[in-house]
Amino acid sequence: MEKRRLGRTELMVTPISFGALPMQRCTMEEAGEVLKAALDAGINFIDTARAYTDSEEKIGRHIANRRSEYYLATKSMARTKEAMAKDIDISLATMKTEYIDLYQIHNVKVEQDWAAVMAPGGALEALKEARAAGKIRHIGITGHNIDLLVKAVKTGEFSTVQVPFNCVEQGAMKELFPLAKSLDVGIIVMKPLGGGLISNVDLALRFILEQDGLVAIPGMDRLEHIEQNLAPTKDFKPLSAEERAKLSAEAAELGPNFCRRCGYCVPCAVGIDIPQMFIFHLQYTRYDMKTAIPERYKGLKVKASECIECGECEARCPYNLPIRERLKQVAKDLG
Ligand code: SF4
Ligand code: SF4
Repeated sequence: MEKRRLGRTELMVTPISFGALPMQRCTMEEAGEVLKAALDAGINFIDTARAYTDSEEKIGRHIANRRSEYYLATKSMARTKEAMAKDIDISLATMKTEYIDLYQIHNVKVEQDWAAVMAPGGALEALKEARAAGKIRHIGITGHNIDLLVKAVKTGEFSTVQVPFNCVEQGAMKELFPLAKSLDVGIIVMKPLGGGLISNVDLALRFILEQDGLVAIPGMDRLEHIEQNLAPTKDFKPLSAEERAKLSAEAAELGPNFCRRCGYCVPCAVGIDIPQMFIFHLQYTRYDMKTAIPERYKGLKVKASECIECGECEARCPYNLPIRERLKQVAKDLG
């Protein structure tokens, strides 16, 4: 499979690599099958996070013995030096590895995060010490706030930047991508399938692949995802005008403000499974599943109508979605 150079890290990685966020939805056994199949298919870059519950553990359990076959990236939400140093050691132990190729500061969302990370005693200091000690090889940053990522890339401290990019979210094209390329910062694309909501995988991934130098990490938690996601890399063809129009039509239908199922908003104060609410609602409205969805919804322990409007979830949503308002709509339609 083609390999792309991940900026100044010099890592040569598969342009469609492995996003390990959905690993947390698999059983331990299923995770092993998917991870091993991904390596067997030639994928050589895996991106996970401390925040993805047991995703690191599953990687350590199943593919630590094949460590030479893949580059490993993880990330932490820690903002202080002490907390980041602790998380790096936990990642190393959990994934049973002596080094991590890329350790990223996870989801720098607001100015306070950025200030904390960069301050004396901030997370960046721990990452630099870990790099000097050989525990990690490169330092990266991830987020959804393009202005903050531009600021981060300009410091020269980061070898990679990870940002959402797909047919619906193209904000990074304007300034971030050209800047990163000019400074030789590797670009990792999260949410290439809009969190699984862009239905035409082939078109969505070819849209990414036709951009020079990008490395996408679609989430994979089933064996069929591997074949589906790698298919566009074989005999790659840029999008035709007709295909581009088809993708744009889907993007227009989704609009920019849809739930990407990232799960940052949970846990909810009263136990509402927020992403699941939005999935049900989308299936009910967009896919016209007017009988099956109300049936499944009825079986949920905590319903949208039980939201107490505390707002805690909205503060954590990287897309600033009006979750409370949306839940009211879910409650209206589904009860
Ligand atoms: S605003 Fe509603 S959905 Fe959000 S955390 Fe509070 S109770 Fe849960
Ligand atoms: S509501 Fe926001 S934080 Fe929650 S899953 Fe959707 S996009 Fe992610």
